[in-house]
Amino acid sequence: MNLILLGPPGAGKGTQAKWLEDHYGILQLSTGDMLRSEVASGSELGEQAKEVMEMGGLVSDELILNMIFSRMKHSNYKSGCILDGFPRTTPQAEALDKMLVENDIKIDHVIEMRVDDEAMVERITGRYTCSECGMGYHDSFKKPKVEEVCDNCGGIEFVRRADDNTETVRSRLSNYHEQTEPIISYYGDKGILRSVDGMQAIDEVTKQLKRVIG
Ligand code: AMP
Repeated sequence: MNLILLGPPGAGKGTQAKWLEDHYGILQLSTGDMLRSEVASGSELGEQAKEVMEMGGLVSDELILNMIFSRMKHSNYKSGCILDGFPRTTPQAEALDKMLVENDIKIDHVIEMRVDDEAMVERITGRYTCSECGMGYHDSFKKPKVEEVCDNCGGIEFVRRADDNTETVRSRLSNYHEQTEPIISYYGDKGILRSVDGMQAIDEVTKQLKRVIG
């Protein structure tokens, strides 16, 4: 099964993709995660993307397409994959379609996670993760049970994403509306678009996804 998760930053795509990965044994392919590891490793690709990401802009289609297609070529995703954060522009969606046709791969569902912008600013600016295991927390909605100690692994170091500040979030949201939203109708016209209410609690959104996927 191959899925595309669509939704603005903060909609919960990464959280749900991790659940889908564990539950269905399909591979999460997040272009945001790939870019962050390129930046962390100091690679040339990371250097090219870093500034745009910090300003909340979109990295060029060419760079994204080379990166994701090469990852898809070298990954073992026989059971399928979840595309998280890709495609984000019409040229990316069209290039993906072409590549899928050439390789005889089918997308089963494109799932849009619907949320309110204002709630996203609060969600994103309050989120942080354990540096050790990547477990996600939030200043208001999900604090560790013991202050400053990770529930999952006992780690005591936490990190926040460099682009999770109010100004950058607003720019990421406006990019979403201008450049990514048009691909919702692109997939609607193909008849593979489904949607879930991303404003619900994490478990509730997961239940909706299960219903959609069947
Ligand atoms: P994300 O983790 O999906 O929120 O992505 C973090 C940042 O990486 C975005 O704000 C963009 O700067 C960049 N990025 C991730 N995926 C894409 C994409 N498909 N196209 C362009 N830029 C992207």
